[in-house]
Amino acid sequence: MIISMRLHASQAEIDAVRARIEEFGYRVHSIQGEERVVIGVVGIGDVTACLESLEAMPGVEKAVRISAPYKFVSKEFRSERSQIRAAGVEIGGDEFVVMAGPCSVENERQIMEAAEQVAAAGARLLRGGAFKPRTSPYDFQGLETEGLKLLRKAKEATGLGIITEVMSDRDVELVAEYADILQIGARNMQNFALLKTLGKCGRPVLLKRGMSSTIKELLMSAEYVVAHGNANVILCERGIRTFETQTRNTCDISAIPVLNELTHLPVILDPSHATGKRSLVPALSRAGVAIGADGLIVEVHPCPEKAISDGAQSLDIPQFRKMMQDLKPYINLWSQTRMAETAATV
Ligand code: PEP
Ligand code: MN
Repeated sequence: MIISMRLHASQAEIDAVRARIEEFGYRVHSIQGEERVVIGVVGIGDVTACLESLEAMPGVEKAVRISAPYKFVSKEFRSERSQIRAAGVEIGGDEFVVMAGPCSVENERQIMEAAEQVAAAGARLLRGGAFKPRTSPYDFQGLETEGLKLLRKAKEATGLGIITEVMSDRDVELVAEYADILQIGARNMQNFALLKTLGKCGRPVLLKRGMSSTIKELLMSAEYVVAHGNANVILCERGIRTFETQTRNTCDISAIPVLNELTHLPVILDPSHATGKRSLVPALSRAGVAIGADGLIVEVHPCPEKAISDGAQSLDIPQFRKMMQDLKPYINLWSQTRMAETAATV
């Protein structure tokens, strides 16, 4: 069950609700929000009687039964889409948001050029890893703090918000100083210590689907972040492992409408890691727009043949520019659909 208190419900009212929940034999799992408090309730008992009793209490706006194991992120909890703001950009709203930039921050020249060029082509946030999860311990691991400083410089020069990966709960505070969105990589989707720390970090989180994770597991991981206090989670489909070898991963394109049915959180597509091949990125990006994603995160490098990581799947600048141009009619249709949907819900 989820209990939404009225705006500015008093502490005494919240305490009384908590006591009533416990009298019914349930446990208060989490209490979130300052202005509008939402109480998550778990346990076994007489749900109907408990809901009826709570709804009659002062300060309670709504008490609802949630059958999904992921409660706060489910559509049952909130039927309208959630919008997440980062660096003045709204994700999940009326704009299709493209985030772009290199896989890794490599040096000042590379990141500045990438930032300027992707901004000019219409990207709204700059991506670039300073902490890199690499399969081999001998591969480039990222510039770490130096990389974060370069991202800040690129932000100052272009105005683009920054999305960058954090790999360990130890680094959340540091990365949150520089990033507008914290990216959680596929390999860390179930790093529960990290997810709990993100709940307290006060920055939006982009949670990538693990390469062997189900959609339900992705939603459970998002629930960790939200249940620990951070409602600003964006989900990302980036391809999963299958027996197919023509692509680096298999893009589970249907995950996007599935997620749109199950959750109110924004969902974006990463066509770069989903395919591993730059030639496939524009087609997948079109598919992402058409199928109702809220945005894309795309790898773009000023000189992909010299990239330290993921060069084969990175677009160069002219390719990115062309892709953005070619996406325009699709994005126009996307906007019309989104506006019609917004008009129908108000
Ligand atoms: C990345 O964005 O460069 C990355 C490592 O992505 P993923 O975690 O999806 O593999
Ligand atoms: Mn990459």
